[in-house]
Amino acid sequence: MLTYIFGHTNPDSDSIVGAISLAHLKNQLGEECVATRQGEISPETEFILNKFGGTLPELKTSYAGESVYLVDFSDIAQAPKDIKEATILGIVDHHKLGDITTDTPLECWIRPIGCTNTIIKEMYDYHKIEIPKDIAGMMMCAILSDTVIFKSPTCTKVDTKAVKELAEICGIEDYKALGMEMFIAKSQIDGATARDLNTRDYKEFDMNDTKVGIGQLEMIDISVLDSRIDELFADMKLLKEEGNLHTIVILLTDIMKEGSQLLVLSDDMSKVESAFNIKIENNQAWLEGVLSRKKQVIPFLQPQF
Ligand code: MG
Ligand code: MG
Ligand code: MG
Repeated sequence: MLTYIFGHTNPDSDSIVGAISLAHLKNQLGEECVATRQGEISPETEFILNKFGGTLPELKTSYAGESVYLVDFSDIAQAPKDIKEATILGIVDHHKLGDITTDTPLECWIRPIGCTNTIIKEMYDYHKIEIPKDIAGMMMCAILSDTVIFKSPTCTKVDTKAVKELAEICGIEDYKALGMEMFIAKSQIDGATARDLNTRDYKEFDMNDTKVGIGQLEMIDISVLDSRIDELFADMKLLKEEGNLHTIVILLTDIMKEGSQLLVLSDDMSKVESAFNIKIENNQAWLEGVLSRKKQVIPFLQPQF
């Protein structure tokens, strides 16, 4: 029986590459698996697939009656609508444990490290399966992306070690230069609508029955967005209404300045102010040193609800 492997909605490079790399491993182990995706890919993921000749996973948004592995998430809010009708065989993830539950025993590889692909690298090592060159290159890029080239506080020694080993397999010496090239591709905003930008890396969370949306744009230089801030806010207002959200936050993360400009619309701004111990003016604030949504944003916002 065919099993599908996919990452979260609005898939990032870790979700797309994680589906590809885990599907290959599972196939080597004799399970018939195929990588899929829940949505359109970002310019960064396109760069990675082009660079290493990766095949774009098929778009599939419904999984009722299917067997699945989940990578890079365990939140219902980031899952396909009919996930409750699927059989979850396993989860490989590096986020806080979400609210997905199962009726049957499952395989779980969940660790507090920088990237799902680092965990998948460990799975290859555990099973003593060789990683093909192209897949190693893509996995390396996914780790460099999730760890913001090792700058993110989520990055661990396990991640840097995995990148070095994968770089050797794919034959790329200057992996940090490739990482920068990738972030330049990621910073591309030409032709992107405000909706494209707000949802490029956007996730919704259920915080004690309150819906909160958090998007993030990781850029080499966020000043290129200065002229588009009003447009972004106008679209955030629509996203907030459409999703019936209490709060919507977009983080414009400057990976060179190592901080994030917070754009926020909320039914109760004081919750956001006390989460970060800041004063929000004109719905904005600068968060010095904040690069990680999962480690520096969600854990502070969640207790407010
Ligand atoms: Mg992800
Ligand atoms: Mg990830
Ligand atoms: Mg990320």
